[in-house]
Amino acid sequence: MTDCLFCKMAAGEIQPDTVLETDDVIAFRDINPQAPTHVLVIPKQHIATLNDLQPAQAELVGKMYLAAREVARIDGLDQRGYRTVMNCLEEAGQSVFHLHLHVLGGRPMQWPPG
Ligand code: 5GP
Repeated sequence: MTDCLFCKMAAGEIQPDTVLETDDVIAFRDINPQAPTHVLVIPKQHIATLNDLQPAQAELVGKMYLAAREVARIDGLDQRGYRTVMNCLEEAGQSVFHLHLHVLGGRPMQWPPG
């Protein structure tokens, strides 16, 4: 999608602060971090929301979680703890309509989230 911010990152038109990249996903630091580690893992393929995910794309979500785990390892959080969050639609806080998994850590987390 030409007007999608995260598609532009996936295409290399905008260069985020990338933590890791594979054939299928990119992980980059959030521009407005909510924790010492705040990384977004996105599929390179455009999927607007979790509601739009197709069964054939299930493996891609697994790859997003494996990337999130690797991000946590890179930032030294794998033994300490971290949180992954995927917001779906506005009421849940989704503001960018390209599927993404937040990886947050480096401070104590509250529950339930606000
Ligand atoms: P959402 O609110 O959709 O769950 O998460 C979108 C995230 O994208 C937010 O945490 C926001 O700070 C981040 N974000 C928005 N624009 C940019 C950008 O241009 N660069 C980066 N690195 N993050 C962005």
